[in-house]
Amino acid sequence: MSEDLETLRHSTAHVMAAAVLDLFPGTVIGIGPATDEGFYYDFAFTDRLQPEALPRIEAKMREIIKQALPFVKEEIPRGDAVALFERLHQPLKVELIADKVTDATARIYRTGDFVDLCLGPHVANAGQLGAFRLLSIAGAYWKGSEKNQQLTRIYGTAFPTEAELESHLKMLEDAAKRDHRKLGKDLDLFVVDEMVGRGLPLLTPKGTAVRRQMEEFILRLEQRQGYQHVKTPDIARLEIYKISGHFERYRESMYPPSEMEDEEWQLRPMNCPHHIRVFARKAYSFRDLPVRLAELGTVYRYEKSGEVSGLIRVRAFTINDAHIFCRPDQLNEEFERVIQLILQVYRAFGIKDFHFRLSLRDEVSNKWMGDPAVWQRAQDAAREALRASGHPFVEAPGEAAFYGPKLDVQIKDAIGREFTLSTNQIDFLMPERFGLEYVTSEQSMTRPVMIHRAPIGSMERFMAYLIETYAGAFPVWLAPVQLVFIPIADRHLEAVGRLAQGFRQRDLRVEVDGRSERMQAKIRDAQLQKVPFMAVVGDKELEAGTLNIRRREGGDQESVRADEFLTRLEREAQLPLE
Ligand SMILES: [Zn+2]
Ligand SMILES: [Zn+2]
Repeated sequence: MSEDLETLRHSTAHVMAAAVLDLFPGTVIGIGPATDEGFYYDFAFTDRLQPEALPRIEAKMREIIKQALPFVKEEIPRGDAVALFERLHQPLKVELIADKVTDATARIYRTGDFVDLCLGPHVANAGQLGAFRLLSIAGAYWKGSEKNQQLTRIYGTAFPTEAELESHLKMLEDAAKRDHRKLGKDLDLFVVDEMVGRGLPLLTPKGTAVRRQMEEFILRLEQRQGYQHVKTPDIARLEIYKISGHFERYRESMYPPSEMEDEEWQLRPMNCPHHIRVFARKAYSFRDLPVRLAELGTVYRYEKSGEVSGLIRVRAFTINDAHIFCRPDQLNEEFERVIQLILQVYRAFGIKDFHFRLSLRDEVSNKWMGDPAVWQRAQDAAREALRASGHPFVEAPGEAAFYGPKLDVQIKDAIGREFTLSTNQIDFLMPERFGLEYVTSEQSMTRPVMIHRAPIGSMERFMAYLIETYAGAFPVWLAPVQLVFIPIADRHLEAVGRLAQGFRQRDLRVEVDGRSERMQAKIRDAQLQKVPFMAVVGDKELEAGTLNIRRREGGDQESVRADEFLTRLEREAQLPLE
């Protein structure tokens, strides 16, 4: 966000607060910053604010803007500022002065009667504002802590021009339609059940069908690339996380350990230690490496109740995880293979807009663990592998993990928000901590290097991404239901049931809509459920051995022989492994 846009949005937040105080005297104001998407301001209202009040606040804001009141800056003695906000009955501002203002003076800004404690900058006068919209109301804790009082946050957005505002609102509307939480409900893919707990979404039969296809795809792909799959438990002795260092560095995100038989047990926050112990079960020679151990491993990480959301921020999730144990001289090739695997996965899901970020060590910090020469080799290996891939990448010196360089892949979601999909790390530390070794060609013992890699990161998060990207209209191979049979009358039900069973026998996911609804209504429902194909079957079709096929996107219907359509669907339903 440019500085001008930030100033514009933050100034609009001031005007919103001024309007709120005018309409609802006695309201206590919190803070009102600009954000990447717009702005907000937090308030403690005397009565609960109803969403219907937003248009009234907007109207009041327009009045203030019309008056073109100037934003006037004043530096006043700290004690005067405290007295001023006490007189205005603004205790949160008094608290902010105590927390933040360390100078002898405090800076305030006035717009008409409205006074805010603020460093600025702002627009010169309110007349320079205008293209704004108030969007929503949410709860927010004062200073972001659940220990403090809950405030009401009003979100809004602002732009230099009406046209930019309109296009942003259009994008928000589109995003709301694609929101995986909404589609997850409409298409019955997952449910968040309060009785089970927040942040613990339950996949329904349909959601599970999608998930199983994702799993099948990635497991098969890995198998073809020389990975071996393992299956390890979700819990372990706490001790192992002390050895790995997670307990020390990662404790905040871990669940509290539980006690059993005079020992402490830990729900796992990471899969690495389990895989390391699978590797450690036997002696390896240099010829045996690399060993690539993979697992769809579920991990448990603490997220605050207020921050969990849909499938994206959850308290239990499954990583498409693997740990590669290799010789230092194999690092280059192994890393290149990881990149190729990532690219293959992305191709399969049609992900085109992404870039790599390579995080390296720098000379400034001394937190780096291990031999600088080995680091250098690992960094060169990663860089060369990236160059060979032909994809653009940026380097981030000083951003590496302290135990090795790291490769993240940034992608954009359906509405252009960037997030990290894939994280991959080269690790010298854990082999050290766990004392891993293999026999070299000179018959000495040495440590392998580890690569942690997860091309699609969290399966849950990736599913959210897919739901939003496809807007629920999954390609045939991922669709929870690939074909709905629609019998025209009850007398066709039995024959249609037999037809459907024939498709099921060939691993196709089909349903029969046997409800006593009109045919058109059934077609419409199947389209709303984004089922790729509908097969209408009546006397004519049964006699000729055909199906009357329609597609979810509409268009012409076609009459196809049932066996021919089965073959066609089977082909379309294949995993995109090539
Ligand atoms: Zn301000
Ligand atoms: Zn790992």
